[in-house]
Amino acid sequence: MTKFAVKHSGPVLIPVRGSEKQFPVNMVYCVGRNYAAHAREMGTDERQPPLFFSKPGWTVNAAGSNIPYPSSTSDLQHEIELVLAMGSEQNIYGFAVGVDLTRRDLQARAKREGRPWFSAKVFTGAAPVSKIIPTDDNFDFSNLMLELSVNGEVRQSASCRDMIWSPADIIRNLAGEAQVKSGDLIFTGTPAGVSTIKKEDKIHAEINGVVGLDFTII
Ligand code: MN
Repeated sequence: MTKFAVKHSGPVLIPVRGSEKQFPVNMVYCVGRNYAAHAREMGTDERQPPLFFSKPGWTVNAAGSNIPYPSSTSDLQHEIELVLAMGSEQNIYGFAVGVDLTRRDLQARAKREGRPWFSAKVFTGAAPVSKIIPTDDNFDFSNLMLELSVNGEVRQSASCRDMIWSPADIIRNLAGEAQVKSGDLIFTGTPAGVSTIKKEDKIHAEINGVVGLDFTII
């Protein structure tokens, strides 16, 4: 048996719906600008190739209950996203709904200064994810509808049909740049309607009729 020199933290675990099994999180990859209307609201051209960034696995908040308002920002924003849960051999194991929480003011500054998005995207609780719904590679994601509300008011509502890059396109492109392994989560980009959230806001994100996620900013 391997003896570790320091305590081995182990992966964050996400429950799989309808199963006793847990999904062990490895990398969290994210796609930027994958819906034309959101690319426009961010002031960019929608015809760019997919833009990838990543979050550490520890940013995943599987319980989806309370998320502390992060430090160093006065503009925390929500981005609802379809999340792919990867199995082996770059096959899709399942999917979930997630929220790519973003310190938008730090992202704007990073863009201005030509710096990485690290501080905009990486903080405790930055990637809340619902239970995982197992599926197979033939699943038609274009029929899924994403909807996010803040304190009961709908802020984002869109069809996965409007994604610029499909799940298969994203996986193929990402695998050309980095390793895609079992346990990886891929956030596939957010539709239009991102907005500022504050302490005590209750966020509900769902893939209509399939799976939901609730959390409160504290
Ligand atoms: Mn995003």
